[in-house]
Amino acid sequence: MTAVRRGAGFLWEGVDVLEYKAFDEAYRDVTRQVLFGAAQGLPWELRYFEVAAGGHTTLERHAHPHAVVVVRGRGRVLVHPEIRTVTPHDLVHVPPMTWHQFQATRDEPLGFLCLVGIERDRPIRPTEEDLGALRADPKVAEFVRL
Ligand code: MN
Repeated sequence: MTAVRRGAGFLWEGVDVLEYKAFDEAYRDVTRQVLFGAAQGLPWELRYFEVAAGGHTTLERHAHPHAVVVVRGRGRVLVHPEIRTVTPHDLVHVPPMTWHQFQATRDEPLGFLCLVGIERDRPIRPTEEDLGALRADPKVAEFVRL
């Protein structure tokens, strides 16, 4: 399939709405839809993530980068050491081995497109030592959700 019609509410015809991470409990209320990827023989995946109001993605880092375009709602993003408010059309680049987390506001979902390579390393969660270092910055300490 080369073209898909977008449905209502950020759903795409023929695209399954998946659990964000089936084996990781360190997130809250996030769905994942793979819009392009291995099914089309591509070397990268374009995913649509939606974080429900009040939810958040996993606090993590990894060697592969993320290229993100916010398309729905409002939220905040940690790309360590920076914390930004994001709204639709904002671009977020997560460089390699950089701690990151996306959070929706309490009253609106946060939807974003995220481009990654198909071949990529597994995300790393923070150790207690990592958390101690992250929380040394009060802004980051206030932000992080585990
Ligand atoms: Mn990540």
